[in-house]
Amino acid sequence: MGVKESDEAYMRLAIQEAKNGFDRGEVPVGAVLVFQNQVVAAFSNQVESLMDATAHAEMLCLKKGFSVLKNWRLMDCVLYTTLEPCPMCAGALISSRIKRVVWGAPDLRQGAGGSLISLLGQKHPIHTVEVSSNVLGEESSHLMKLFFQRRRAWKKSLKISLNSNT
Ligand SMILES: [Zn+2]
Repeated sequence: MGVKESDEAYMRLAIQEAKNGFDRGEVPVGAVLVFQNQVVAAFSNQVESLMDATAHAEMLCLKKGFSVLKNWRLMDCVLYTTLEPCPMCAGALISSRIKRVVWGAPDLRQGAGGSLISLLGQKHPIHTVEVSSNVLGEESSHLMKLFFQRRRAWKKSLKISLNSNT
């Protein structure tokens, strides 16, 4: 609903961030914050590198956005993220009064855009976030699948080598 031409271009930047995260062993989620057609922040997940469960790509984008724009209200901003935001990020996005959120692949386990719970696009008397979903979702979901396949294979091989040492 309401997907704009530029949405795919910004989503491609977010996917590039997700790929960077993949290469560093992070769950491959990327996000880009755009203010009046300018990219203000672009991050991938940094949960592993920062040892911080809240270091999701969306949270990192929001924090940089607050500091760059010197405003906690991001009313003229759009956040692009490769994965349906989790409840924590959805809550933070709503609190920031962000205008619009565009997400890629659904997250059936944690998604707060309707997959697990419907939080992000809920009509709210103070602020309702516009939401567009499934923008280049296949590509992001492919990246996630590849990551978890590799991680499972890696854990399996680790078990085998541990067993062979005993
Ligand atoms: Zn999150």
